[in-house]
Amino acid sequence: MMFTPHGIYYEKEIENYELGKVLLEKFKDVPKTIIDNHNNIEEMRKKENKEFLKMKTNLIIGVRKTHKYQENHKVSDYLVPYTSSGCVAACMYCYLVCNYNKCAYLRLFVNREEMLEKILKTTEKSEKNLTFEIGSNSDLILENTITNNLVWTIENFKDSKKGRLTFPTKFAMVDSLLDLDHKGKVIIRVSVNPEEIINNVEFGTSRLNGRIEAINKLKEAGYEVGILIAPVIFVEKWKDKYLELIKRLEFDLSNKVKKDVFFEIIFMTYSYIHTKINEEAFPNSINLFDKEIMTGRGRGKYWYKEQVRKEGEAFFRDNMKKYFPNNVIIYIV
Ligand code: SF4
Repeated sequence: MMFTPHGIYYEKEIENYELGKVLLEKFKDVPKTIIDNHNNIEEMRKKENKEFLKMKTNLIIGVRKTHKYQENHKVSDYLVPYTSSGCVAACMYCYLVCNYNKCAYLRLFVNREEMLEKILKTTEKSEKNLTFEIGSNSDLILENTITNNLVWTIENFKDSKKGRLTFPTKFAMVDSLLDLDHKGKVIIRVSVNPEEIINNVEFGTSRLNGRIEAINKLKEAGYEVGILIAPVIFVEKWKDKYLELIKRLEFDLSNKVKKDVFFEIIFMTYSYIHTKINEEAFPNSINLFDKEIMTGRGRGKYWYKEQVRKEGEAFFRDNMKKYFPNNVIIYIV
């Protein structure tokens, strides 16, 4: 699967970067518009919700200017702004959508040397063996099919004395990573959901089969792997659907994976903006907002009511204990 954009918007400055030149050459036949700033493209801001998917067929290329790390206390120590933001897929709950005409489409940043250099310096200075989350703003496996940035990153990170990199993905195109000498410094977390939910909600991502295969391949290639059951959506008959998923994982994952894979389980959050975009962009799709079981948590955001979350947590604790008794669940939120 290779994404070919219908249009490219780019900052002129990218012509001064190696990756910028490569991308301009690679997409030389795609119509282009020069922009001042990838953060503020007026034409995109004016688009209507129903044009959401069409808007995502564009590619924006620029230079990342803000490099502020955000502390994190889950798998990583810091969330790091890295080589992309946004995505060409369209999961109906994606939090990048919240600012959809600014963040939802794929933006690539060509100053990767500068960004990796900062990670390397930060890790060197720290006494702790830090882990950097480089994929919180986009899906790097998908991005890698366009830029080869993950291959480049892993190859240029492997000789650092300390530090680890991690990112989550909903894509299965991992083959270019399998032969890399990553030296055990990269933790790849693959996100899964029941097949029916993937098919009806996670548009444009890899299907469940492919993701499970990718997990087995990555483990075989020596990567540390994690599985995100995320986001858990309490659709009708959710218990049956998630139980089937857990059983399928137990059946299809290799013994090597099952030996030490860890889990993260995240319940879906949603927002008023999602409901608005989704009803206009995907008029025939299911409505993920369920007012019986969801409640507001301020600023137009929704989450599941406490009792629903408690029931969900108990369900996952019980069944994971049964099917994955030796694996750690890092958190359920
Ligand atoms: S794959 Fe990830 S980044 Fe892309 S739309 Fe889905 S949730 Fe958002």
